[in-house]
Amino acid sequence: MGLLSLGTPLPWEEAKKYADHVREHGITQFLSIWDKLKDRQGDELLWGDEIEYMVVVFDNEEKNAKLSLRQSEILAKLRAEEGGVSAALNRCGEPMVMPTFHPEYGRYMLESTPGAPYSGAICDLLSVEDNMRFRRHFARKYLKPNELPLTFTSFPRLGTPGVFTEPHFDPSNAVSSHSLFLPQEITNPHARFPTLTANIRERRGSKVSINLPIFIDEKTPRPFVDPTIPWHRNVYKEDHEAKDGAAKIDHIYMDAMGFGMGCCCLQLTLQSCNVNEARRTYDALVPIAPILLALTAASPIYRGYLADVDCRWNVIAGSVDDRTDEERGLKPLKKNRFRIPKSRYDSVERYISNHWTNRPEYNDHPPLYDEAIVKRLRDHGIDELLAKHIGYLFIRDPLVIFSETIDQNDEVDNDHFENIQSTNWQTIRFKPPGNASIGWRVEFRSMEVQLTDFENAAFAVFLVLLTRAILAFNLNFYLPISKVDDNMQRAQKRDAARAQKFFFRKDVFPVGQESRTPSIASSSGVSSPVDGAGNLPRKDRRLRNCYPAAPPPPQGLPHDRIEDEYEEMTLEEIMTGKGPDFPGLIGLVDAFITTLDVDASDLERIQRYLDLVRKRSTGAYKTTATWIRDFVRSHPAYKHDSVVNQEINYDLMVAVDEIERGLRKVPDLLPKEYSCPEAASGALAGLKSPQ
Ligand code: ADP
Ligand code: MG
Ligand code: MG
Ligand code: MG
Repeated sequence: MGLLSLGTPLPWEEAKKYADHVREHGITQFLSIWDKLKDRQGDELLWGDEIEYMVVVFDNEEKNAKLSLRQSEILAKLRAEEGGVSAALNRCGEPMVMPTFHPEYGRYMLESTPGAPYSGAICDLLSVEDNMRFRRHFARKYLKPNELPLTFTSFPRLGTPGVFTEPHFDPSNAVSSHSLFLPQEITNPHARFPTLTANIRERRGSKVSINLPIFIDEKTPRPFVDPTIPWHRNVYKEDHEAKDGAAKIDHIYMDAMGFGMGCCCLQLTLQSCNVNEARRTYDALVPIAPILLALTAASPIYRGYLADVDCRWNVIAGSVDDRTDEERGLKPLKKNRFRIPKSRYDSVERYISNHWTNRPEYNDHPPLYDEAIVKRLRDHGIDELLAKHIGYLFIRDPLVIFSETIDQNDEVDNDHFENIQSTNWQTIRFKPPGNASIGWRVEFRSMEVQLTDFENAAFAVFLVLLTRAILAFNLNFYLPISKVDDNMQRAQKRDAARAQKFFFRKDVFPVGQESRTPSIASSSGVSSPVDGAGNLPRKDRRLRNCYPAAPPPPQGLPHDRIEDEYEEMTLEEIMTGKGPDFPGLIGLVDAFITTLDVDASDLERIQRYLDLVRKRSTGAYKTTATWIRDFVRSHPAYKHDSVVNQEINYDLMVAVDEIERGLRKVPDLLPKEYSCPEAASGALAGLKSPQ
């Protein structure tokens, strides 16, 4: 969750006075980084994942699975071992660096990252799953015997009238969120989080309000008026909102940041050769974000009800939506400066690459940025596309300001820049170097976390290989950003992987490339499968950066109609190919792999990951969300009324743990060979077993 400064956070009435100060110095700080590091070249591929867990505690007598609020105690123990090395080896034969654990919004959440980023070595790529298991195993060591770190996207019973946390707290005193459902104690007590919660509510002028359509089952009452909403409770001044329309009929109503920021996800960060390669990678991943969201969909249950959506995304978008009525277009602009169509947590608003393939037509949203900031950046020599990207991020106010760090040294600090940057939660994040020891990076943020580390590794490996295919083959995935937004909404619908179509580009190869077999961009910048002497180019032994970008076509820039460049495809077509001209994303990754020098056993492991992604794409395996929904609907205690009660939730959590351990076979979700991770993973040999 970005930076976690220590200090005294200002309440909104105070913080807002410093908004311009933070923006002004944030830009100065960005410019200072830009001046020092814009020409930074030649960074190798380094990359890393982030996995979020919810710590679930099992009460086997009551048959209840609850969220354990022991984050602080657990983190203190985990962090004591940070930075050391373990006796366990990765697949490169090197000792594993002890993982890093981070606090997260929910007081039941943990986030882990590898102790050191992965390199481009194939053995490192194949260490990802072991690394993830190592982290899970390590976290388990410090949990109580009846607690487990589950990689589960949205906790089904969060915010239900029953007992869903341990210890139990009443929601009547939710001073930061004013929630009717979530107690204050659900939030990480570090001052940043309650302040963020309260300041979003105060800036907005009301509680956040999220309404997800409920899944209408055979016996769901119609109209559905949620009996678990305390419609007439009136502790806080805005509490009348539920009955006054904030809560919609036939929907699951949620009224607090915790419902969204309390979800878990899987993110990846990749370092690029230089700033331009980072910008190209960013743009290429923008249209991929909704596709992988649909494929990793894993969250069909909210506040004890089956939803008609499979993903967390809109819930989080709503849960941190600090826009005022004016900004949301409900009232004429008077006090605020901008009409803002999107939440701070939303899909990417603009493409940023200055490569010729980024046609101006693709940025088809009405211009929205802080003009004075864009002018300042332009006057400093920054090109229009990057200036407008930053200018869009900076239409937002800083939400949490610490009194101790208002005045900063803009040459060395970047907290003001990061304050705005890290509270713009778009599907892709362009991460400038924070200091000279790190390169320009891109973060992929849309994926939902999967139940097992095998699956999480599979999606991570797929995405990293896809980024290499993008650069090596100079692939072009551009489509109008408004179509990417449409795809984001489609991706979240129930069973989107099977039932929806998505806009996707028809021809992804460089202009003028006749062959439909992708070929590596050679150092001369001309795509060529063979060198001048007719030899195949030497195969790479590792994943790398610094591929030449495609030069503009000699016949001039393309000017075909944008509408002819894309069409609607099924997820299966996007992933596995359509017709003779489009090999699909997996086909492109396969083609890229043939350019690598990998031995047969490594290749087999990579193919095992790609096979999971392929089978999720074709429907041979269900998505996690569909599997969860089917589990609920076939549970003996389910009354076909959309309600996921305590017993079903308990059995679901037990099943998820058994699946992860390989004890419960789910041939409609995972390969039959998936087995007990502890026994299967040699890399864990050096670790003590969990309690
Ligand atoms: P945030 O929460 O701000 O996105 P985290 O620190 O939680 O950031 O995660 C960043 C990820 O980036 C981690 O997986 C880490 O291993 C990885 N990483 C660290 N250094 C680099 C680097 N130079 N290039 C790419 N990835 C890196
Ligand atoms: Mg996180
Ligand atoms: Mg993180
Ligand atoms: Mg992140």
